[in-house]
Amino acid sequence: MNLSNATKRQLYEVAVDHDTPLELRYKAARELQRKVGDNLICKYPSCTRKATSTFALVPLCGDHYDDIHAETIRYYRVTTKMQYAEREHYLKIAKLIPWSRINMGEVLPDGSVRRD
Ligand SMILES: [Zn+2]
Repeated sequence: MNLSNATKRQLYEVAVDHDTPLELRYKAARELQRKVGDNLICKYPSCTRKATSTFALVPLCGDHYDDIHAETIRYYRVTTKMQYAEREHYLKIAKLIPWSRINMGEVLPDGSVRRD
């Protein structure tokens, strides 16, 4: 598929398709981000600033992108031992991320892991 000719819907489908190679999924996500472009408002709760980038396809202003990006780096650093429920900023947008553990049903909205 030529991603530059794809519709936003097609790009989204590629980005969230688990059977697609990761590199292609990232390319589709970047292309989608480019096409969505301007006029988007940050999706972080109560924020009304203009979105300047996306995190996992969720439009964010620069400050909230930086918060979530820094938190994500801390979370994935092995020595941090940070729990999923401690991802304060990420959990505020997790329900908007199609492949988040919340939307996959693995984690409850408060960040605790499902036991049932
Ligand atoms: Zn924001």
